[in-house]
Amino acid sequence: MGQLTRITAHVYWLPPGPPDRPSLCAVVGSRRTVMLDGGSSRAHARELLSGLEAVGVAPPFAVLYTHAHWDHVFGGIEVGAAIVAQRLTAARLVELDRIDWSDEGLDLRVAAGEASPEHAAYVKEELPAPRTVEVAPADIVFDDEIALELGDVRVTVRHVGGDHSRDSSVVYVEPDGVLFLGDCTSASPTGVMTAGRAFPLQEAIRSFGAEHYVEGHHPSVVSERELDDLFDKIVMAERAARDHCELDLRDEDTAYFLAAFAAGLRSVGGDSSV
Ligand SMILES: [Zn+2]
Repeated sequence: MGQLTRITAHVYWLPPGPPDRPSLCAVVGSRRTVMLDGGSSRAHARELLSGLEAVGVAPPFAVLYTHAHWDHVFGGIEVGAAIVAQRLTAARLVELDRIDWSDEGLDLRVAAGEASPEHAAYVKEELPAPRTVEVAPADIVFDDEIALELGDVRVTVRHVGGDHSRDSSVVYVEPDGVLFLGDCTSASPTGVMTAGRAFPLQEAIRSFGAEHYVEGHHPSVVSERELDDLFDKIVMAERAARDHCELDLRDEDTAYFLAAFAAGLRSVGGDSSV
């Protein structure tokens, strides 16, 4: 289990963990606390809430979502706070709440090719059967951007899209210079990346000029230089996929991006599923 770690003056981070738990953060101002992403289950959200309680921080008054994939939103209901979501995310939350999350429902979707076996296995492990999934709807919906003043700290949530999920938003924390990325730099759930989405996304991310980057499933906080390196690998992988030139595939990231861009060239875009 990860430990809640204070990464900057106002930001606490719960690192990602098994089976598919993403990073969660709390941003603590002099007046208000917010939570970034809701977690994979009530138990996951509770880990962050207990950690905050232990360090004497006020509970979140709002939860800001990066996108509506199950592992980022199933825990939101546990917080009992306002849910802030981009319009596409908000619509998807309503759909997620209606889906049959029983073992049978999951297995049917895998058999129909609508979900991956890994996805079903992760849900089953995070939420043992019989499971009840309640997905909290959005209380506050934005289109492009919304800013919240927490007292000496401001968070800005901005819709950036990308291959991973059309609804992806990132959260910028000032003055800490932290950008909470969710999963937006990853391929789609079916492993697809495209130049048309990946490069505008890089520009959108760079436009914040952040110093520290928190990615959904990356085990450490990423520096600006490490992000540059990652983006360079994406640029090289895209070029290699297009021109069929040689790349050093011993690097895990490069191999992942090359496969994703190659898949992107074979298909017309990649659709995102649950
Ligand atoms: Zn995701």
